[in-house]
Amino acid sequence: MLAYTDARQKVIEVAGSIRRRPLLRESIEIEQGFGRVLAREVRADRDYPPFNRSTRDGFAVRAADASAPGARLECIGELRAGGTFDGALGPGQCIEIMTGASVPAGADAVVMIEHTKRDDRTITLDRAAQSGDHIVPRGSEARAGALLVAEGTRLGYAEIALAAQAGAARLEVFVSPRVAILSTGDEVVDARTAPGPLQVRNSNGISIEVLARTAGAQPVQLGNVPDDKNALRRDIERGLEAGDILVLSGGASMGKYDLVEQVLNDLGAEFHFTGVAIRPGRPAVFATCRGKLVFGLPGNPVSTMVTFELFVLPAIDRWSGAAPRPLPVFRAKLVAPIREKGAMFHFLPARIEWEGREARVTQLPWQGSGDIVSLALANGFLVVDPERTEVAAGDWVDVMPRRGAL
Ligand code: AMP
Ligand code: MG
Repeated sequence: MLAYTDARQKVIEVAGSIRRRPLLRESIEIEQGFGRVLAREVRADRDYPPFNRSTRDGFAVRAADASAPGARLECIGELRAGGTFDGALGPGQCIEIMTGASVPAGADAVVMIEHTKRDDRTITLDRAAQSGDHIVPRGSEARAGALLVAEGTRLGYAEIALAAQAGAARLEVFVSPRVAILSTGDEVVDARTAPGPLQVRNSNGISIEVLARTAGAQPVQLGNVPDDKNALRRDIERGLEAGDILVLSGGASMGKYDLVEQVLNDLGAEFHFTGVAIRPGRPAVFATCRGKLVFGLPGNPVSTMVTFELFVLPAIDRWSGAAPRPLPVFRAKLVAPIREKGAMFHFLPARIEWEGREARVTQLPWQGSGDIVSLALANGFLVVDPERTEVAAGDWVDVMPRRGAL
């Protein structure tokens, strides 16, 4: 069976090759940019910094006048952030300067106020200055016209701050892909209604909606459909119309009433995988149908969320115009030994904590892939290799954060 890394790669390839082209663009206010993907690069409108900027409160000096501690200089004025000074600093002179002010002509170093003594207009420096001290030269961060934020960048707060600094009050971004969400199951009822004793509330509809939105897509909620071939076919067709990507939950395994694959097949879907060697999430299906990407995620809530992270997220990235985010897998020290049956990668709900700079991980008790109680207590997953079915306490293992929880 397909390794999860290969399955992910498959998604990235397929989503890249049939990606709706050209991606649509829209213009938005910069404040709305968080999580969106930039469609037109932002370039420096001027040099950054635009002048030789003092990074300290102190005195702007000529370093040549202060080559040894104890130099005495004449203070000829004051320069605050935004302020100008006409003329140039002469030999033996200094000027009081504030953080963020432009270093005047003639000066080539700033001495911090903490290292000076003032007696009226005479300033004594208690240490030597070197040319360049506490000055960020004009254009050293970026030259006018230089690329600041590239097309295809998913915008975080730093990119937005940079774009704001460069005067990009509106941003051109790609229109986010629509993710149509359809849950399946005779036993599933809307989360706002009271379930009968053998029914379950539709938590997958909600989790997929939240996952899709936080991934940067626009969710289109289609609710739940019973395990009936005709009804399922009708709703899948609706989903293919309503979304660029259709995400189904449930009905993907081998049971008699698991109809998703059958119906997709009847609709002429091309299957790229119909199972992945992971637990939870083994029956995950990925297909293309009528130019859209379709994911049939297993209905067990933990499986649904894990397979979304592994497989749907890179598809959303691709169809958003961004590079797929890497899986943030890192290493942590196992606190208590674990034993798992081999043959598949396991993503086990776990608690990751730090002791000093060392990450530690503890597996949480769980009842299998339906156990959202356990997942809600977890801030990450222990990722157990199929070759390593017994892991001793103190061993290093792979972990993956639960997005937003760590
Ligand atoms: P399935 O993948 O359809 O075989 O479903 C596997 C398990 O997940 C069953 O116990 C279902 O009741 C449960 N399940 C399916 N869909 C949902 C849903 N939308 N919300 C919560 N649980 C679900
Ligand atoms: Mg079902």
